[in-house]
Amino acid sequence: MTATLPHPLAVGEIKADFPIFSRQPQPFVYLDSAATAQKPRVVLEAIGEHLATTNANVHRGLYPLARAADEAFERARAQIAAFTGADPRGTVFTKNATEAINLIAYAWGRAEVGAGDAVLISELEHHANLVPWQQLCREKGAELRYLKVDGEGTLSLQQLERELERGRVKVVSVAHVSNVLGTINPVAEIAQLAHQAGAIAVVDGAQAVPQLPVDVAAIGADFYVWTGHKAVGPTGIGVLHGRVELLEEMDPFLTGGDMIARVGFQETTWNEPPYRFEAGTPPIAEAVGLAAAVQYLQGIGMERIRAHEQALGAYLLARLREVPGLTVFGPADPAARAGLASFTIDGIHPHDIAELVGGEGVCIRAGHHCAQPLMARLGVPATARASLSLYNDEADIDALITALHKTVEVFSR
Ligand code: PMP
Repeated sequence: MTATLPHPLAVGEIKADFPIFSRQPQPFVYLDSAATAQKPRVVLEAIGEHLATTNANVHRGLYPLARAADEAFERARAQIAAFTGADPRGTVFTKNATEAINLIAYAWGRAEVGAGDAVLISELEHHANLVPWQQLCREKGAELRYLKVDGEGTLSLQQLERELERGRVKVVSVAHVSNVLGTINPVAEIAQLAHQAGAIAVVDGAQAVPQLPVDVAAIGADFYVWTGHKAVGPTGIGVLHGRVELLEEMDPFLTGGDMIARVGFQETTWNEPPYRFEAGTPPIAEAVGLAAAVQYLQGIGMERIRAHEQALGAYLLARLREVPGLTVFGPADPAARAGLASFTIDGIHPHDIAELVGGEGVCIRAGHHCAQPLMARLGVPATARASLSLYNDEADIDALITALHKTVEVFSR
């Protein structure tokens, strides 16, 4: 089966924006964007240009170059916040999504969660949205509860209601999009139900922001986190959008330079958000690079990117079904999932699949995807995963399917 999809992106032109595709010794097919996305030239140029023309530390200098660096950094913050419909005053730069969730679990969680309270997450969480809460609960004598994943890879709002009715839930924290199942969770409804029960809502948007139009204000969560490198931006920068009033009430996570108002020999008062949560020199060039990345995505349009990835995701699912012995996990309906598919093939370890397919020039991921409890729930030690981005097309998927057929053949000898 090959088909031309009605998706609206000019993938050939988009691919030409990403230098890596023309600068490898061999052509390759990149289907691992859920791990990290490739970077368009505009991001590389923005970082290089900033470092070549505007480099100085921020929030310190009084000379013109330092002021220009301040302006570039704060302009980047405003652009990044606007991209996700968030308030720049509540937009904190972290190292990555993992650090952003740790920030919440430490700065908010250590103050607000006590013995006998509950933290509610789900079985489909990445370790980044699981281990920080597990640590918090162990330390405080709180209970870590899980929303179950059903056979379709979805969460149940009825179970959420029941868990909230049991009481003592202080925080509900879920992924917007699962990095294994692709499931798009109804995060606005989840946030609303959490609020009705007096809990706060946290959303891990690491896999959502690169693929879907995200409006943080409309979702209404108290915290929404994501990570730059999956959204065609640089590594070394994550984003925490927090409700400003909540951030204002919170103590800092990390302490040191830049996050203070006044330091005495024995006591310190805190700077206002977002600076209170950005101890030390922040990721300045990375913020400039991420601003270029979100402008690039906006230039194409997140609605169009979603339409492309949904159509291509449907094609991926349909073609994977042609491979003998292959099982795909997660929702069957392409509209209910993001552009990725995790799968197993009877009798072949996912690591062997990824290695053999890799030998054919197709990059996919295999392993537990930092979601070991979900692997246990699915009853598999690992899966192989192909994940899509705006620079992929049907030919990339065709190459994967050909390589998978070869893999099956090798193992059937
Ligand atoms: N959450 C999800 C759903 C993810 O897929 C990932 C990255 N695999 C993360 C969080 C963590 O992102 P980072 O490693 O950039 O902190």
